Amino acid sequence: MFIDSHAHIDGPEYDADRAEVILRAREAGVTTILNVGTGDPHSGAFERAAQLASDHKEIYAAIGVHPHDAKLYDDAAEARIHSLIAAHPKILAWGEIGLDYHYDNSPRDIQRQVFQRQLRAARVCDLPVVIHTRSADADTIEILRHTYQQTSRGGIMHCFGSSLELAQAAIDLGFYISFSGNITFKKAEDLRTIAAQIPRERLLIETDCPYLTPVPFRGKRNEPARVVEVARCLAEIHGNSLEEVGRITTANFAAIFRLQQI
Ligand SMILES: [Zn+2]
Ligand SMILES: [Zn+2]
Repeated sequence: MFIDSHAHIDGPEYDADRAEVILRAREAGVTTILNVGTGDPHSGAFERAAQLASDHKEIYAAIGVHPHDAKLYDDAAEARIHSLIAAHPKILAWGEIGLDYHYDNSPRDIQRQVFQRQLRAARVCDLPVVIHTRSADADTIEILRHTYQQTSRGGIMHCFGSSLELAQAAIDLGFYISFSGNITFKKAEDLRTIAAQIPRERLLIETDCPYLTPVPFRGKRNEPARVVEVARCLAEIHGNSLEEVGRITTANFAAIFRLQQI
């Protein structure tokens, strides 16, 4: 039993075979998928993510403005997210939000402002947050320490690929650390060393599909069924069985989102 805690299967990459993708996940033992809606907040992307969750028992949604799109964030976007959250109980988290200084698709000062605004907004509706951070460790730590301190529900550091220092800071603030297929890559020795130091009760697994397809499927489109490969890698690192990693990460996911039954 596994949970893919971060997937993007509402996008056009899956329009041709979404039903089969969901079925294959189920057959692989992936009981729950958190689908993250991203993109222009006024494009209908968030409504699409909410609808997908409404249509499928095993799918939940997170919505928020990605740091790439921070320049598109405005009062109307925030109001739209609030009203979708109020209307859809299966929207479990505000995200993904954060900082991406690798691509710099939005100016960094705007990214920082929008990250802080969304952290505060998530607190208003009492939801955990999903954090995307890349090449921005110091600012992420600082903003989480200052702005996040005021929020109550914790969250997920998704597709973790940052330093152990950032992982520790996030754990101290009540966050969970989610690893994706990049942990299986041959050159990811440093990341596996970090993963070994994350307490099991703070671990999560995800695909971030359609990206980051794990070994041995690299080069193909990723999908939630492949989260089992991430679990297999963590099982080796932590000296657990595959089943134990599935059980632990499922319990962790349920704890963050206060789900009674998954
Ligand atoms: Zn991301
Ligand atoms: Zn994502």
